[in-house]
Amino acid sequence: MGGEMGVVLKACPFCGRSEFLRIMNTHTASFWVECGKYDGGCGAEAHGRHFSGPSRRTRFTYDPEAPDSSKCYARTLGELHPEYRLAAESAIAAWNRRASPPESP
Ligand SMILES: [Zn+2]
Repeated sequence: MGGEMGVVLKACPFCGRSEFLRIMNTHTASFWVECGKYDGGCGAEAHGRHFSGPSRRTRFTYDPEAPDSSKCYARTLGELHPEYRLAAESAIAAWNRRASPPESP
């Protein structure tokens, strides 16, 4: 195995680049995708939904390169708390919806 399943971010609809896309989150189950302007991207963002869950003492941050069973905050998508995973997936979906406008009005 290895690698992340199901996380495919489309290229930024504003600058057309994909190398600066980041999945960000705060200390809650709230995520967004950003074309990181501090890395050279254009700063576009797409925010996902917030999913409430039990109060967590541990915040997890999505990291596609987190080592297996990482003890730090960084986790792969499948290792996140369920509501974090849903929130991250909704941010990914929001970004990809924005990146590909509907084909017909
Ligand atoms: Zn961009």
